[in-house]
Amino acid sequence: MRMELDEVQRRLLETARQAAKRAYAPYSGFRVGAAVLALGKVYVGVNVENASLGLTICAERAALARAVAEGAGPVEGVAVWCLDVRPGPDGQLCESAASPCGACRQWLAELAPRAWVVTNTWGRARGVAELLPLAFGPARA
Ligand SMILES: [Zn+2]
Repeated sequence: MRMELDEVQRRLLETARQAAKRAYAPYSGFRVGAAVLALGKVYVGVNVENASLGLTICAERAALARAVAEGAGPVEGVAVWCLDVRPGPDGQLCESAASPCGACRQWLAELAPRAWVVTNTWGRARGVAELLPLAFGPARA
């Protein structure tokens, strides 16, 4: 897959890849890292699973929560890297493997409405509005 990403997006993806190594994913075996870029600062998160699976938090939401906790400015971009995705029979990575889930898309719509999102399984950046069109959320001017 040819990655049509700029240098900032590639560097943010590398930060997400490094973070993914610290994920706690003993149940799914899919370690995911996320990196949020806001006003030049980067906030990382990883998926943290739990034996009570519903309590698991995704890397994207963990990174966004960290950004909020640290007083981040407007989010410019988000990178997601699934460390354990493997190529299928066609040699390609399944595009959905590192796609933010529905819950994370709702968080992105609320906390990063103008951000681009990149993953290690997509060939290009996507806007949050593309990921969650007609999102429920607060009215914004
Ligand atoms: Zn998610």
